[in-house]
Amino acid sequence: MIGDSEYLELLQGLEEHHAIFYQLWEMGRPVFTEEVETAAVTFDLNNQHLAFKFNPDFWESLDDYSRLFVISHEALHVLLNHGSRSASPRNDADRRDLNIAMDVTVNTQLVSAFGFRRECLDERIAQLGCFKDTVFGHDHDVRFNHFEHIYRQLGGVDTEECELWCFDDHTGLDDIPEELLEEVSERAGRRMSDEEVEEINEALDDSTAGDFTPMATRVMKPRNVEVNTKWAQIIEDWVRRNKPVDEFKERWDRTPRRLQSVQGGLSVPWEKPVEDFDMPRVTFFVDTSGSCRKYARRFMDCVDSIPHHLFDVDLYCFDTQPYRIDLDERKLTGFGGTSFHPLEYELKKQARQGSEYPQGVFILTDGWGNPVEPAYPERWHWFLTENGTDKYIHRDSKQYRLAEFEGGG
Ligand SMILES: [Zn+2]
Repeated sequence: MIGDSEYLELLQGLEEHHAIFYQLWEMGRPVFTEEVETAAVTFDLNNQHLAFKFNPDFWESLDDYSRLFVISHEALHVLLNHGSRSASPRNDADRRDLNIAMDVTVNTQLVSAFGFRRECLDERIAQLGCFKDTVFGHDHDVRFNHFEHIYRQLGGVDTEECELWCFDDHTGLDDIPEELLEEVSERAGRRMSDEEVEEINEALDDSTAGDFTPMATRVMKPRNVEVNTKWAQIIEDWVRRNKPVDEFKERWDRTPRRLQSVQGGLSVPWEKPVEDFDMPRVTFFVDTSGSCRKYARRFMDCVDSIPHHLFDVDLYCFDTQPYRIDLDERKLTGFGGTSFHPLEYELKKQARQGSEYPQGVFILTDGWGNPVEPAYPERWHWFLTENGTDKYIHRDSKQYRLAEFEGGG
């Protein structure tokens, strides 16, 4: 159905919209079959690749530009893990709502983030495809692009009445195993530049502000972030107890003369630690549950703003369980729900293995999770994002606004 030259042209066309579409199309196979009425995507377990299925008549009826749109539409369903979301509709009406919500999410993204021009698409798609205005009317005020919001808003719309065209079949999405999806997105991620990965992650975040994430792995390379003195203040008491006061004062309060006239907000890295100085051990827990996915960059910058030469830092990310991270590699995983008590469990486990309970436990989160009972609640410091909650924070623990620890303090 597709000759070599057409295949290459499609690849090139996809690349123009985003490298991720190119990668997924290349890692998959087009399949022409009467099995589907229009288009669908699924995973071919026997051959271990994504199968982009097209009904030959449907394919023939489309112009080149709309073919790119349909391929990208299928690819986005895959990246957004729409299979797992559509798996349990309550009834037929709910299934229809889920299908519409998925398509609105995908089509809106393709136009707003990936440069597809709706007016250039096949008329049927442009006019009857699921977009915010075709579903909610022209004077809708549906501001968000993410699936959960769109799905919830559908509660007030009689979609039976709308003359909509969900142009593809979503049932094959359920057959894409989540672990394979992870592998596929990781593989695609490895073939893209850092910027491309960042771009696609941002676009996907916009479509998944809820509890789930598509690209299961993100790589956040360490950056040179200005050291923030506030970290030292937090753990000041501990340092004070462990060092003679004079030395401590000298070490923490030194400000070069040339900076004294500069109005606050500037800090300089301290000299190397004095000999025999026991560095406080602090453990960072960075929330990488679905709802915090969008903060990954901010969280990691925050971790980098701690004076690493003065603290012995253990780094973890977590969702419903903690995952130890290599400080240099920064491969983040998680992206499921959120639980705080496994963090305490991890610390206790380590204590049993002989390491001391850390002097500082720093949790970077939006606070949404569940209760936790730390053995040393006073050592727990919570750094909350805007709109975060302190509902689960022990009254003896401390809390801060994350924003105060961003950039040099
Ligand atoms: Zn669709």
